[in-house]
Amino acid sequence: MRYYLWTIGCQMNVADSRRIAEELDRLGFRETARPQDADLIVLNTCVVRRSAEDKVLGRLTSLQGLKRHKPEVGLIVIGCFVHDIPSLRRRYPWVDAFVEPSNIPAVVEWVRQRIGDKKLEGDSLFVRQVPVSVGVPISYGCDHRCTYCIVRLRRGTEISRPMTEILAEVQALVNRGAKEVTLLGQNVDSYGHDLPPVALPIHGDGATEVRSPDLADLLEAVHSIQGLERIRFLTSHPADMSDRLIETVARLPKVCEHVEIPVQSGDDTVLRRMGRNYTVAQYRDLVRRIRQAMPRVGLATDVIVGFPGETEDQFEATYRLLEELRFDVVHVAAYSPRPGTPAERLPDDVSPEEKERRRQAIDDLQERIAAEINARYLDQTVEVLVEGRHKGKWQGRTRTNKLVFFEMGEKDWMGKLARVRIVRAGAWSMQGIVEEE
Ligand code: SF4
Repeated sequence: MRYYLWTIGCQMNVADSRRIAEELDRLGFRETARPQDADLIVLNTCVVRRSAEDKVLGRLTSLQGLKRHKPEVGLIVIGCFVHDIPSLRRRYPWVDAFVEPSNIPAVVEWVRQRIGDKKLEGDSLFVRQVPVSVGVPISYGCDHRCTYCIVRLRRGTEISRPMTEILAEVQALVNRGAKEVTLLGQNVDSYGHDLPPVALPIHGDGATEVRSPDLADLLEAVHSIQGLERIRFLTSHPADMSDRLIETVARLPKVCEHVEIPVQSGDDTVLRRMGRNYTVAQYRDLVRRIRQAMPRVGLATDVIVGFPGETEDQFEATYRLLEELRFDVVHVAAYSPRPGTPAERLPDDVSPEEKERRRQAIDDLQERIAAEINARYLDQTVEVLVEGRHKGKWQGRTRTNKLVFFEMGEKDWMGKLARVRIVRAGAWSMQGIVEEE
């Protein structure tokens, strides 16, 4: 039995798909690259922007024909596309099961029931290779109320996974070869607030206190896993990033100096209307504190341009903030109204052309800034965790999340930490020469 798994969207979806694939492998399935060859098709979907939702709709339409010819093929749709299941069933009757985001046990249960006796029990169990760098969800959903955001509507309120469960998953991944984990959540900074209190060590003191764990505690615990080289986490929320977390990230050697902290706008009025719960001044101060603790930190941010009512001056304020703060990476998106969100009721009054102009202006600015920042790496030697090969070169990332390529030689660098001297640096990647030990 073969399965075809299609994934679109954020790292959370990528991580969920890895877990779905592992479960299907365990049931005796094999992965195939073409839906025509599959007995089971799983679509892991995203609707964060209109363009992503359009791709999902395109996939669903193209699979309608396949299902007509091969009705015995199972078709499961999971992810943020799934809500109001009765209505989805009416609109897409050729889909066999709709499963809410990240509900992997429901996928497994459906497949088990479907294959029944055909289950390939004990079939030469295939152990999927784990990527060198792998995402691990630590919480699902979000308690914020950003007015443009459909994700919280689809994923619900925040639910943290217990620390023991996360630690067991990370340990198992490390046992199978993972060297780096990225702890994932819609808002990782509020991890644990919903978990029951437990006795936790007070750092540097030897004593314990009873309280709910937070991300700093989780980082400490994951840090002690032998064989794990690096830890990252995303995404942060500016209103929830504590000084204790910043101090912990700066102190723990395995935790990379890399922070993804969406600003979304550089104007207080727009931020208020987005429901972001911080001001530009507070955000600026947060960046100052992060950089004070980690002077070489790699900082990434997200920006939305063309939010309803965004004036030219308000856009300019965002542009100037990005010029001032000089991020390593800026993910910029043109606003698109999402169904059911409060912002959908606001007039979408910035024209598509103007949104595109603003998006392009920020892209151009960021290309220049990133090239300038990366040029500072020239002639420096950096630590690169090698994640794979690309066009005849080794490919990996620095601790600050810069993409680096270097020439292949005799040595197999896969999954290893290489010391690489940077000889070329562009806005999006760098080239280097490995310094053999
Ligand atoms: S923090 Fe805001 S944008 Fe991010 S998932 Fe939560 S509600 Fe959505």
